[in-house]
Amino acid sequence: MNESTDAAVAAWREALGQQNVVTSAESLDRASTATFPTNASVVAILRPDNHAEVQSSLRIANRFELPVYPTSRGCNWGLGSSVPTRDAVLLDLSRMNRIVDFDPRLGFLVVEPGVTFQQASEFLRDQKSTFFLPVPGGPPQGSLIGNIAERGEAAGPYGQRADFVANFQAVLPNGDCIHTGFGRFPNASATHLHRHGVGPNLEGLFTQSNLGVITQLTVWLTPYPQVLKPFMARIGRREELNQAVDTARELLLHRVVETNGIGLWNSHKMASTMGGYPWQAMDGQTPVDIERFPSEPWLIGGAIYAASGEIADANAAFLQHRLKPLTSDWQWGDSDDSQNVYLGVPTEHNIRAAYWRKKGGLPPSINPDRDRCGLIWMCFAIPLVGQDLVDVVNAVDPVVLGHGFEPNVGINCVNGRCAHLYLSIIYDREIAGEDERAVACHDKVMTLLRELGHFPYRLTLLSMDSLPPPGDDHDRYLRSIKRAFDPKSILAPGRYDAIQD
Ligand SMILES: Cc1cc2nc3c(=O)[nH]c(=O)nc-3n(C[C@H](O)[C@H](O)[C@H](O)COP(=O)(O)OP(=O)(O)OC[C@H]3O[C@@H](n4cnc5c(N)ncnc54)[C@H](O)[C@@H]3O)c2cc1C
Repeated sequence: MNESTDAAVAAWREALGQQNVVTSAESLDRASTATFPTNASVVAILRPDNHAEVQSSLRIANRFELPVYPTSRGCNWGLGSSVPTRDAVLLDLSRMNRIVDFDPRLGFLVVEPGVTFQQASEFLRDQKSTFFLPVPGGPPQGSLIGNIAERGEAAGPYGQRADFVANFQAVLPNGDCIHTGFGRFPNASATHLHRHGVGPNLEGLFTQSNLGVITQLTVWLTPYPQVLKPFMARIGRREELNQAVDTARELLLHRVVETNGIGLWNSHKMASTMGGYPWQAMDGQTPVDIERFPSEPWLIGGAIYAASGEIADANAAFLQHRLKPLTSDWQWGDSDDSQNVYLGVPTEHNIRAAYWRKKGGLPPSINPDRDRCGLIWMCFAIPLVGQDLVDVVNAVDPVVLGHGFEPNVGINCVNGRCAHLYLSIIYDREIAGEDERAVACHDKVMTLLRELGHFPYRLTLLSMDSLPPPGDDHDRYLRSIKRAFDPKSILAPGRYDAIQD
């Protein structure tokens, strides 16, 4: 820390209280650790308790010209965890964990940044809510707002979380505050119910950006279906994968299945969530030779949500008629399962994948940063067209295997037109050379897919500067907005930033 950091820390301590400005080396080191190598460090941690304290924190940051990086829970595992894009003071919003409002009739929650999926799910259960909150495959202790700020996704209807929100309360880099939609009118009846309000909708400025700190927002909940019918089946060959994707498109476009209602996983991804690496069977060699563990290469799964038994039966019959011929081992799941991820029950099941290559197995409490798990996500938007997705899989598989890792691939049908393909590289950071190899693999895959015209829909710290220059005035426009409200670039410099001049 230099002199100006010391003076700023003194000012923040006065504003937030001594104990809410953390500078211990151990805490800073923890906050500066992700699941892959990073360059930036956390130089202090601020822990505001409320909106006004966030405003003062940013005003002080401006006064001392020190960059600040917000996190809600800091569990952005595989994408950067709580590590900032450049050296910065971490604005840790986890103390702001109040559920501010719940409307049981219209089905929405108003939350602060520290509210976790686990907390919201338990709250709704205690309220005997007829609505639930879709949960991501990520950590139960992740926050709604952090996930929305990243435009993360969950299983089932309303799973594209950032599409089912309203009334962002955002603190601008200079400490000013705005509300999106109708929220700027204190007595507007539709504040929580209408995203766009009247006039330009500013909401998009606050996700995947560095233009404001979200201190509160409204999250729309999914009504519990009268009938839920989860399904799962196996897909044997690439031709069938191709046809299954085209069939999924038809099912989504005709609303037999809801958005985010169908996903596909390859067998590597499935294996990584089921248990650790088969070290013995593989004689200690990596990557795994999937041919030696006969299993069908792909799984397709999802759920039908319906308002009545008749609708569920009709949709299920149609879905089965269209998909079953392309699959084997067709199963309808148990809709009463209390652990049902399709009904918003958070689970650590998928997070176990982060430990796939760790020889020590799973610890009692999961924390991939602490345990030096290696994990890098790559997330791409691809047309929901069978041949396009098969071409991508054919292109990335040999690259990832060639670098010594398994291509863990999942495909989420986010609407009837586009898929999200997410690929993870999982490794052990304790093994010398693995970090470097994983980063080289990441860089190669990013370049390869960009050359094929497929762009990422979400970035990691490793890919934050990887986008090519635009073919229009996009970056000039974005830079003008940033400069107008953040002339000293104090809020999360480098986070989804327009490329600098
Ligand atoms: C095995 C595994 C599976 C996963 N599955 C999923 C999945 O299914 N879906 C998914 O979306 N993710 C998934 N993740 C990724 C990640 O863990 C989650 O997205 C998680 O919910 C993010 O946690 P968080 O709330 O702590 O985010 P944070 O780290 O708090 O926030 C993420 C980023 O958003 C920005 N931000 C946070 N809060 C604010 C704010 N208040 N104002 C402005 N900007 C802010 C920050 O720049 C921050 O870096 C997975 C990770 C792993 C390891």
